[in-house]
Amino acid sequence: MKSSIYSLTFDQMQEWLVEHGQKKFRAKQVWDWLYKKRVNTFAEMYNLNKDCQLVLEENFDLGTLEQEIKQESKDGTIKFLFKMTDGNLIETVLMKFSYGYSVCVTTQVGCNIGCSFCASGLLTKNRDLSSGEIVEQIMNVQKHLDAKGEEERVSHIVVMGIGEPFDNYDNTMDFLRIVNDQEGLSIGARHITVSTSGLAKRMYDFADENLQVNLALSLHAPNNELRTRIMKINKAFPLEKLMPAIDYYLEKTNRRITFEYILLKDVNDHKKEAEQLVSLLKDKRHLSYVNLIPYNPVDEHNQYDRSEKKAILDFYQILLENGINCGVRVEHGTDIDAACGQLRSKQIKKDKHKV
Ligand code: SAH
Ligand code: SF4
Repeated sequence: MKSSIYSLTFDQMQEWLVEHGQKKFRAKQVWDWLYKKRVNTFAEMYNLNKDCQLVLEENFDLGTLEQEIKQESKDGTIKFLFKMTDGNLIETVLMKFSYGYSVCVTTQVGCNIGCSFCASGLLTKNRDLSSGEIVEQIMNVQKHLDAKGEEERVSHIVVMGIGEPFDNYDNTMDFLRIVNDQEGLSIGARHITVSTSGLAKRMYDFADENLQVNLALSLHAPNNELRTRIMKINKAFPLEKLMPAIDYYLEKTNRRITFEYILLKDVNDHKKEAEQLVSLLKDKRHLSYVNLIPYNPVDEHNQYDRSEKKAILDFYQILLENGINCGVRVEHGTDIDAACGQLRSKQIKKDKHKV
């Protein structure tokens, strides 16, 4: 079976070409066609010799994702639902900000972490995405922008779609290197953020990667009792394992870390939790940013509600008064199920009804 050509890093492309009797310098040309000119067929790569075109065509696919649905929100957010070659569905979201276009990518089909508030965790993991399938999400969105003819570029990426990126670690790292490579899309590492539910072991590896990519940690609770209740991963990696991993990351990279905190009404949004969060982060506040996220209700998790506006503001105020950098996330595309996994789980339910 052919694999996606977008799975290869630049070095891997060079090696592959040499192994298949081609000149190393062809890699630069191929990548130029793929990522700068963004062609859809090998035949268009006219400065490659026929032999090189053929061997690529025999071995690679130039796109394996099929667009199923595209939903556009009033605020300009666009959600894409793609079908992969094996029929699995994934979601990708394009958001427009004042600083540019940002894309949220999926790394797994479903998620095994199973956080109790999340639509993606409703369906256990079916499989990991290949690096190419993650890169292709960006390529598809970029080609959507190209079609508008306004020379707009995807400038930012958040790895916050369906799945736990650190549970698909190697493919996620290849993805980051491919989209960051100057020979390709050249998306700045500082413009990319990877979000993890806190697989502490992998956070040490990530710190050692020597990448300038940002890290976000889904914390959501400031104590073990509460965190275990809403995120069962906290049993395997409780705060006493997580915080040293964070300290290691901060020391090694000297990069700021973002703590994501979904505010769930009457669950984790009291004054008490805000104060506990301050204590937890105070020794690293110079390198911390807390992103308070209004909860996006998921039909199947009706035990949770979004916090009241006043509770959100009070929580924010306590952090701020105690010198913790923080902000409340501006929402995008709530009218189109833009919280990760929502469109996919609805589509799967619809498909089931059809059968
Ligand atoms: N698995 C990774 C990345 C994907 S989830 C992680 O958990 O970090 C990306 C972010 O979306 C996480 O912070 C997650 O907690 C948040 N999220 C999930 N479901 C949500 C919902 N219904 N409303 C708001 N945020 C949600
Ligand atoms: Fe998986 Fe992240 Fe959803 Fe938790 S919040 S179930 S880790 S995708």
